[in-house]
Amino acid sequence: MDMKELITKIWEDARHDFLEFTAEDDHKCCPVCKEFDGMIFRDDDPDIPQLPLHPNCRCTLQLTNRRK
Ligand SMILES: [Zn+2]
Repeated sequence: MDMKELITKIWEDARHDFLEFTAEDDHKCCPVCKEFDGMIFRDDDPDIPQLPLHPNCRCTLQLTNRRK
């Protein structure tokens, strides 16, 4: 990625919110949710998991300042 693309990305990122996937980390958490745990998605990311992922899913997507 060259400098121009990098700057474009920084500005693009600044216009969006980021969501962190937080799995309920206990023995009841399913492997699918554990897989996503800690992952950060931009709010326009088509790959954002649609919650709930399964019945009784207690996972959340929380606004975060962290970037990917
Ligand atoms: Zn879950």
